[in-house]
Amino acid sequence: MDIIANFIDGQYQTPLGENYLDNIEPATGLVYGKIPDSEKADVELAVAAAKKALPAWQAMPLEQRADMLSAIAQEIEVRNDELAMAEAIDNGKPVALARIVDIPRAASNFKFFAHACSQFASESHAIAGTAINYTLRQPVGIVGCISPWNLPLYLFTWKIAPALAAGNCVIAKPSEVTPKTAALLGEICQKAGLPAGVLNILHGSGAKVGQAICQHQEIKAISFTGGTTTGAQIAQLLAPTFKKLSLELGGKNPALIFSDCDFDNTVEQVFRASFANQGQICLCASRLYIERPIYEKFKQALVDKAKALQPNDPLLDDSQMGALVSKSHLEKVLGYIELAKAEGGKVLAGGKQVNLAGRCQNGYFLQPTIIENLDNQAQCNQEEIFGPVITLQPFDTDEEALTLANDSNYGLAATIWTNHLGRAHQLAETLNTGIVWINCWLLRDLRTPFGGMNHSGLGREGGHEAMRFFTESKNVCVKY
Ligand code: NAP
Repeated sequence: MDIIANFIDGQYQTPLGENYLDNIEPATGLVYGKIPDSEKADVELAVAAAKKALPAWQAMPLEQRADMLSAIAQEIEVRNDELAMAEAIDNGKPVALARIVDIPRAASNFKFFAHACSQFASESHAIAGTAINYTLRQPVGIVGCISPWNLPLYLFTWKIAPALAAGNCVIAKPSEVTPKTAALLGEICQKAGLPAGVLNILHGSGAKVGQAICQHQEIKAISFTGGTTTGAQIAQLLAPTFKKLSLELGGKNPALIFSDCDFDNTVEQVFRASFANQGQICLCASRLYIERPIYEKFKQALVDKAKALQPNDPLLDDSQMGALVSKSHLEKVLGYIELAKAEGGKVLAGGKQVNLAGRCQNGYFLQPTIIENLDNQAQCNQEEIFGPVITLQPFDTDEEALTLANDSNYGLAATIWTNHLGRAHQLAETLNTGIVWINCWLLRDLRTPFGGMNHSGLGREGGHEAMRFFTESKNVCVKY
């Protein structure tokens, strides 16, 4: 039995209440570990450690701070195979995907912000002949980072790295569903020489320890990634506290596919955008709008690929589709497939749970599922399903495609597939999403602003946006 501990003040510690939650392997449905069911008292311990560590961490020369973040990146790279396997067991994702995407990108987060820390600068504003204003950007202090289960180490480090780079001490909580790589990050920080108390990692439920982190008076900023409903609860909780709050929330991302696209490459990329990580990436395409002249041909190409993609044991090197993250999540996604049928949808591929033989016989596997014939206002086209389920709709004009794409409360990411440059740029300007990819998907440059509009979030992360979020700006005005 794999028993995880909290990482507080540079040491692994059992939860004060001595209570634990089960950790289940999605591919088998079996409990394989225990994680601390931490509570308020554990948060107090972590905050005390962070408070003690803060002055020295803030005073540390930037070069030294950057070196420590680089050392963490290197250690992640060294342990790539072990971390990838841990991620695959914990989350159900194919180990090969974790090895080439999740873990290398977690290392990149630390590498990138190691550099950002020494290159971040602030502005000055001169009033000619009279005065100069200069802006100080100072660390916020102790900050909270809360992350979801879909890209566990990747998103955990996406928050922690800039928070540390900006000179803050961090109290971080991974999802209770996927705690393993976050737990290993403690060892990595020890090895890299990160001073005790600078990063504290608490495990447990969102309702208990997550909420206690959000509510702690000495935690001055919260960076949260997760569902829109949880984000709304946190926003409500924090409104009277005036803490800084960054919310990266759900999505219902449109893909606009035009007749003049590079057909084969678009099929390949759109299929990946739909089903990578079992469709459990906030940026996955889930509403596909296809221009009518190629609708049938494109649909058939997707259906053929979906039928050829079989979920398999995620620990096998050649597995391309693993298990959904939990039983309750599988049931939620299956519920949406039933709802789609009730709403008049036609299932073109998939739609069913898969029972594998052997060790994975009780795992949470689902076929890649393609549905057509749903109205844009159908619940399945408006609500985030967050699984391997996409819907298809034909369109006739650019205006219609834009209207359909923008007909959503969400606004995270969109993709446009066309060789018409003017159309692509024009649509990019008018789509109500925080991110637009043209003829590509998930191509990331960590300097760019990342985040969503409307119900997809509040604020932006990435590059200087993250460094700004994790600092307070102070204007100083000097009269000549
Ligand atoms: P979630 O249920 O909202 O949970 C996210 C995190 O918040 C988890 O660590 C969770 O702990 C914690 N939490 C839950 N309730 C809390 C509370 N009241 N106070 C403080 N923390 C609380 O989301 P999820 O199911 O893990 O993740 C899937 C969602 O994340 C999807 O909607 C997806 O689109 C979104 N997402 C967005 C982005 C983005 O960048 N926009 C990226 C990835 C995922 P527990 O695990 O213990 O519940």
